Amino acid sequence: MDSTVKNGQMFCFQCQQTAMGTGCTVAGVCGKKPDVAHEQDVLTCEMIALAAVMGNKYENAAVDLIVDGLFTTVTNTSFDGESVAVLADKIKAKRLALGGGEIMGPDRLFHGNGDIRSLRSTLLFGLRGMAAYAHHARILGRRDAEVDGWFVKGMAALGREHTVDEWLGLLMEFGGANLKCMALLDEANTGSYGDPVPTQVSLTVEKGPFIVVTGHDLHDLQLLLEQTDGKGVNVYTHSEMLPAHGYPELKKHPQLKGHYGTAWQNQQKEFENLPAPILWTTNCLMPPKESYADRVYTTAVVRHPGKQHIEADANGHKDFSKVIDHAIKLGGFAEDMPFTGGNGGTSMTTGFGRQTALDNAPAIIDAVKAGAIRHFFLVGGCDGAHTSRSYYTDFVKQTPKDTVVLTLACGKFRFNDLDLGAIGPFPRILDMGQCNDAYGAIQVAIALAGAFQCGVNDLPLTLVLSWYEQKAVCILLTLLSLGIQNIYIGPSLPAFFSEAVLNVLVDKFGLRLITTPENDLAEILGK
Ligand code: SF4
Repeated sequence: MDSTVKNGQMFCFQCQQTAMGTGCTVAGVCGKKPDVAHEQDVLTCEMIALAAVMGNKYENAAVDLIVDGLFTTVTNTSFDGESVAVLADKIKAKRLALGGGEIMGPDRLFHGNGDIRSLRSTLLFGLRGMAAYAHHARILGRRDAEVDGWFVKGMAALGREHTVDEWLGLLMEFGGANLKCMALLDEANTGSYGDPVPTQVSLTVEKGPFIVVTGHDLHDLQLLLEQTDGKGVNVYTHSEMLPAHGYPELKKHPQLKGHYGTAWQNQQKEFENLPAPILWTTNCLMPPKESYADRVYTTAVVRHPGKQHIEADANGHKDFSKVIDHAIKLGGFAEDMPFTGGNGGTSMTTGFGRQTALDNAPAIIDAVKAGAIRHFFLVGGCDGAHTSRSYYTDFVKQTPKDTVVLTLACGKFRFNDLDLGAIGPFPRILDMGQCNDAYGAIQVAIALAGAFQCGVNDLPLTLVLSWYEQKAVCILLTLLSLGIQNIYIGPSLPAFFSEAVLNVLVDKFGLRLITTPENDLAEILGK
């Protein structure tokens, strides 16, 4: 099926929950409407044309527009066709100012030969994911010429014809560029807020006014914390914002009290009766229910029609006083409210970032050599509504007591309130952070491989990933570009992988779909 608005239809197959496992054509399962899908396709074609017209001589302002445009089209980021069209117009104006060039029609975006369409779509979705990381790094003052150049190269490549081998080469090259982008964001986060330290986070919401912050943008949280200092308004993280509690420069604010709720797909239930405003800093925004629509605040590229949006001024400053006043007006709970995670736990621990893991490397290596740790599992990635995602809870519960579960991103809310005990000084579940902290996990794996004088694929380490949106795509491509083998992925395979493309990934990298926790654990540990 080709893309966009033929007879009011649309086409989108970029995320795991796509309709029928093939593509959303009438409306997005995520809530995206055909007109918004169309505006996003037009925006994408404008970005491809702008990249082509720039070639190697790109300018920063134009790359910034491409980064914002790509991030805007990530699943559950913008439901506002009007603002998407405004951004497309800006990109068009930039393209015309640079000489015009040719633009393809949006109906050509997801068209053509199945394998080529699959490979082109995979690159586009990977670029959308990488744009989110580049956006966060830029806000903290970091950019990298190689990464910026790859946005231009990759987007321009989408508008050209390539052989299957050329597309595969581009995907592997892209994986390397995304590693660099994640390193840039790692440096931006740790350079701005310090290296995360292990931190136990309460799930109780204390009485009095409060604000819930969700998404990934630590800079937005920093601004909100600075503006709530001394105001008597507490701040609670939600979903992917949990790892913020590990950063010294954020946790120094005493009003950053704890964490509320679980992963993004539960927000309609979790936000329904909350006496507090909620701030979305990035994806994942679900279409808000009427019952809490007036408590929704968005910022940056997140938008929903009619919801209150907070823009940065020319200096990047954001004024959150409306959100703070709203919290004071609502007043919060009259008494402390104890909440739990998905398994009944009353706290979650985070902050086992790259540096903490590397600082503890000698003790970890000793534990492996002594046989106290038999295997590491990296169980991470996105959460989602699909019932089969209970696999990840069951998998973690069934991991043997002499194994360690590293985790990152919001898939961890399936199990991060479980108490699985400890091996020596190490809890058996170690939360390494947000999805972009896959970079840190890669660095730790490389360091361990160096210490054991083996390759990463020879380590007693298995990656068991859950995917939902496009950041998972860019991370997967990075892992494959590093030659990491035998990754388990679920809960389903991407609809945009054609059979032939999937066969390449299986043959070359041993990529495999999850089956059951029992089967997969037996296969992994029986090796
Ligand atoms: Fe469908 Fe996912 Fe696209 Fe939304 S983002 S329209 S759910 S494929």
